[in-house]
Amino acid sequence: MPPSGPFSFADTDKHVRAAPVPPPHKTITEEQIQTLASLIKGPIHRRGSPDFEFHSTVFNGAVKTPACILAQPLDAQDTSRIVIFCAQHGLSPSARSGGYGTHGWAVEGDVIIDLALIDDIDMELPGPEGEYIGLRDMTPKGKAPAVPTVPPRKEKGRAVDGSNAHIDSRWTDFSGPFGAPPNVLGRRTAEEAFGPEDEISEEADERPRANRPKAESSGSVPGGGQGQGRSGWGQRTTQVPTPPMGTPEMTASSSANLRSPGEQIHLTLPQTQLQPPSQQQMLISPPLTEAASLSERTPSHAESVSSAHSPADAGSSSPLSPAPHTSSSPFSFPDAPSTSTEHAHASFGPSTTYFTSSPATPPTPYVYATFGAGARQRQVDEYSAAHPLPGESAFGQPIMVPYHVPFSAHPVGTANMLLGGFGFLTRLRGLSLDALVEVEMVLADGTIVIVNEKENSDLWWAIRGAGSAFGIAIRYKVRAYPVPVVFAGNIVYNFHKSTAASLLKHFRDCVKSAPRELYANAILTAGPRNKGALVVIQMCYAGPREHGAEFLQAISSWDGDRCLLVDVEEKQFLHQQDSVAKVLKGGLGRKWFIRSDLITTLTDQMIHDSVMEFGDTPDGCTWLFELSGGAMGDVEDSVLPTALRKACFNVVALHQWKIDENDPECVQTAERWITNTISPQSAGGPLPCLFERRENVARTISTYGSENWSRLCALKRIYDPTGMFKHTFWPSDGHGLPIGVQTEEDGSDGTDSGSGKGKVREGRMDSFLEM
Ligand SMILES: Cc1cc2nc3c(=O)[nH]c(=O)nc-3n(C[C@H](O)[C@H](O)[C@H](O)COP(=O)(O)OP(=O)(O)OC[C@H]3O[C@@H](n4cnc5c(N)ncnc54)[C@H](O)[C@@H]3O)c2cc1C
Repeated sequence: MPPSGPFSFADTDKHVRAAPVPPPHKTITEEQIQTLASLIKGPIHRRGSPDFEFHSTVFNGAVKTPACILAQPLDAQDTSRIVIFCAQHGLSPSARSGGYGTHGWAVEGDVIIDLALIDDIDMELPGPEGEYIGLRDMTPKGKAPAVPTVPPRKEKGRAVDGSNAHIDSRWTDFSGPFGAPPNVLGRRTAEEAFGPEDEISEEADERPRANRPKAESSGSVPGGGQGQGRSGWGQRTTQVPTPPMGTPEMTASSSANLRSPGEQIHLTLPQTQLQPPSQQQMLISPPLTEAASLSERTPSHAESVSSAHSPADAGSSSPLSPAPHTSSSPFSFPDAPSTSTEHAHASFGPSTTYFTSSPATPPTPYVYATFGAGARQRQVDEYSAAHPLPGESAFGQPIMVPYHVPFSAHPVGTANMLLGGFGFLTRLRGLSLDALVEVEMVLADGTIVIVNEKENSDLWWAIRGAGSAFGIAIRYKVRAYPVPVVFAGNIVYNFHKSTAASLLKHFRDCVKSAPRELYANAILTAGPRNKGALVVIQMCYAGPREHGAEFLQAISSWDGDRCLLVDVEEKQFLHQQDSVAKVLKGGLGRKWFIRSDLITTLTDQMIHDSVMEFGDTPDGCTWLFELSGGAMGDVEDSVLPTALRKACFNVVALHQWKIDENDPECVQTAERWITNTISPQSAGGPLPCLFERRENVARTISTYGSENWSRLCALKRIYDPTGMFKHTFWPSDGHGLPIGVQTEEDGSDGTDSGSGKGKVREGRMDSFLEM
């Protein structure tokens, strides 16, 4: 079916969402804009302005928004007022965090609520009983806009072509050099010395300076609050300079930035901990004898290409040659051999002192991380890496232990805290949303609530898997876990129809009863027609190298074909997180389509059929078998049913193609494969974070299971009966109303949790705007 409409796909299939293509954007008067401006502290951008175009552009630039304005709240109160404003004027809001949803729902509303300025990050130590500082007691400062609340109307004719030039600067710069996160060290230090500049730090939210609102380009608008200034929250996240790993400054200051409930902690480490690594310490991570033996057949990252390929190979069809730069395959690893070597030196160097291949004793089982919904996962991971706690290796050596939230890999935004979030730590710690302890949220009627196990417990159940349909999350309080080191990387083979099934079966059998520390996937990725496809096995062992090496050895023992590359090594978790962003750069400015399912078993027949089908997919298609289960299956009474949580593989088709082309084959091959080959073993459906625009309603319901879906419908009837949050996975009827909500007969069994009855806050919206 040829793509059409602003969202690329014409959903004429009667089983898909009834109103998928948004109507033309609504108009909003200047007076209304000024009214909203007088109500909120954050800036508002009019459709057509460069700032609007910039902030409404999703990750690949493939979605054209129908919105008339984009508002950037500074806090929950701002967000509440925007929601109420929308209700009063018959406008629908859509919340945008990272804008990585390929469906584009984040920018589908009449009013985009871009949470980018709410990106504070903080960490604290738990109290003796696991206590934490509640979000209610943490004053959000927000980022003051460096501009008046509504930039003046831009002159007609300002070109906004939506071209990729715009995207390039924004999305290609997100990952700084490995091991040297683009923190704001230099700038902040200068700020502390000389006071804040007029402009918001571009580094803090990864948006290029050229695209930040500029004071000089804006006129003053009465009523626009300037927020709380740049001190406080913003400073709290960055006030501590982040020197290279292992320096005294880092140790002392980073610890000081971790707070126990009600108390600031000041840790002063003995100077001995801060010395460069001694020979003895370096020997903690000896070169692996297993790895050495592997290298005879499967060369190490440093020598893989030269030994696996002759120079002639490299210049011809090798998928590792420079040519794959032109490929749209996200996993073509164009620079893998050289970059991995560089990284090993550039990133770690003497700082390896603070990593250990032996079991480490972390100072505490977990800490609490607090972050705004506009923070990127990468920002939070950078913060974690820059603020480790002092721990101890098995040999009594001091090590620094960073604490990470179990995010999915970079570069996506934080909406996963409500929708899933499958990543390298999922089997060990659960999904991203399983780490939640508290959320600050704005509901459809503008009410600001704290949602946790005890407060609004009905919502607590619903938002951890279906959250985007119930409110707009403002701030998250989350558990972060110690990740001293990971043993991670890729094992790469050429894809051959004749041998790939054997490799996939071997992979499956190797990881069958793996411990939770092991994340592993097998990826089939199609290259350009003359380049051939690859099979990539990616592993990330969140534990000591010697344990992880057992799996590397087992996986690498497959002798059905020549291995092109092994770049599995000990590294900082942040580096591993970045690896996905690196390889996904190939997808910039492309259309994307994701189709996924969780399965209960991966049979020989499924593997065989998958390999045969994959051989016929176009360039840019990637199929992924991700080992699932583990801690994800521990959670009871979850909106995501146990069967889903205990599934054995997360299977994903990630297809991308040229932004200016229609390539129905890319969509059809993904749908066909998942529907015919994978879904017969479905555990229910995909994780909500992997729902797509073309999602079948039955599949959406099936993900939650009929019982949970009924419970969700009952809650939706209480909290959002008119579908204020319609730009989400929740299917709408032909009138744009949420299905299963309007009548008892309409998809709901009438089940009601009871606890939420009577919570409809009538009259609340008016009173807010009258203030
Ligand atoms: C390149 C790429 C790689 C990916 N890798 C992974 C992966 O490894 N693991 C994984 O689990 N998923 C992965 N995904 C899927 C991705 O995690 C989801 O699309 C996720 O929702 C993106 O988060 P975001 O903040 O960028 O979402 P957005 O696009 O900003 O929003 C997604 C939805 O949530 C709503 N929303 C956004 N913010 C809020 C808020 N604060 N409150 C309420 N609702 C909100 C939006 O309105 C929209 O409906 C990947 C996607 C891409 C494109």
